[in-house]
Amino acid sequence: MRLLRLALLLALFLTPPLQAADLAPSGSSVSGRPTPVAKDLTPVPVPQPSALAVRYHESGNWLWALGQLWALLVPAALLFSGASARFRDLARQLGRRWIFTVGIYVLLFSLIVFLLDLPLHFYRGYVRQHAYGLSTQSFQKWLSDSVKEAGISAVVGALFTWIPFLIIQRSPRRWWLYTTILTIPFLLGVVLLKPIWVDPLFNDFGPMKDKVLEREILALAERAGISGSRIHEVNKSVDTKALNAYVTGLLGTKRIVLWDTLLARLDDREVLVVMGHEMGHYVLGHVPRTILLSSLITLASLFWADRAGRWLLARAKGRFGVSQLSDVASVPLLLLLLQLASLALLPVANVYSRHQEHEADRFALELTRSNRDAALAFVKLQKENLGVPRPGLVYRIWRGSHPSIGERIDFCNTYRPWMQGRSLRYSRWIRPESAVRR
Ligand SMILES: [Zn+2]
Repeated sequence: MRLLRLALLLALFLTPPLQAADLAPSGSSVSGRPTPVAKDLTPVPVPQPSALAVRYHESGNWLWALGQLWALLVPAALLFSGASARFRDLARQLGRRWIFTVGIYVLLFSLIVFLLDLPLHFYRGYVRQHAYGLSTQSFQKWLSDSVKEAGISAVVGALFTWIPFLIIQRSPRRWWLYTTILTIPFLLGVVLLKPIWVDPLFNDFGPMKDKVLEREILALAERAGISGSRIHEVNKSVDTKALNAYVTGLLGTKRIVLWDTLLARLDDREVLVVMGHEMGHYVLGHVPRTILLSSLITLASLFWADRAGRWLLARAKGRFGVSQLSDVASVPLLLLLLQLASLALLPVANVYSRHQEHEADRFALELTRSNRDAALAFVKLQKENLGVPRPGLVYRIWRGSHPSIGERIDFCNTYRPWMQGRSLRYSRWIRPESAVRR
């Protein structure tokens, strides 16, 4: 989500979650290296959530709603109070030239928003995570991560925000289209560079320490048609007890990242199924597809921001000190409108994300045929991450980027086309075990 906020501040673009694909399983007590024994077909029951997990989930929904409301209130307050216009005037005095005015305005605006968001951000990211026993992060690490993250957003925003504003000046009727077109190379650049320029500022990424397991993973990757794949282990145990893995990067920076917490809590067979899921994202091209969907969402959002923004400014007749969208002081207005668009379009992005996650689960099962290990990994995921297996409708619509854990366990318990004489959906990408020497 860091990427999303970066993109948003950067050029006022709206994008759905771009960090394609996390899994976050956890598991049982079965241990040891994968061995070619007959697979256990006993279904894994979906566990009841603990009382603590239910409380975490329900309060999390309220906090999410508060966060969304806050993301409307802050820009509204800065716009309607005239503060935004005053920042612009100050930026103009300091910067003189237009391009510096835009950059200084963005830095000032980012600082104020950071300070206004700080109490909620501190509670959500630090106090609450410790209260529920999920966090291992020191206050210093939390503070330095937060400052770095905000600093990067502000600097990138200051460097790039003049571009959409120049386009608005030059083409007031079609800027939303041209800006969307420019977001595509921009997002490709962000996805390409973030794993090597930004992520290492927050955690240590290195090769996998368990070389035996790494060889198993590389053999699996070879069966999935991925050659020369890069697997990174990241020391998330300094931040959290939660488990996760994800695929990120493009071209030369494409990689699968495993949190060390996941490696510590899952046994090898479970890790292999998780890797199968991540490889599914990789092989099925989910990162570039997500960028494509982001662009469509950006197009719709900017079109809406243009129409609604011009209508509102015409009505306001220069009150609040802003009369044109091309004035950098209209940033909070655009952010407000983009936040509304995000609330409307998030359900669409989630439907697509859930589809990708489900297909990655299918790919993992077809590749490993380790249904029981996959289900047990999801059981661990639920327990360690304080998840609930079957969240309610509102959660699923606005927050459900993945199928629920209950649905995923059910799928693992039943999806065995290879035993029912049915063809596999991804057989063309998967080489049989006998074709690869371990
Ligand atoms: Zn995934």
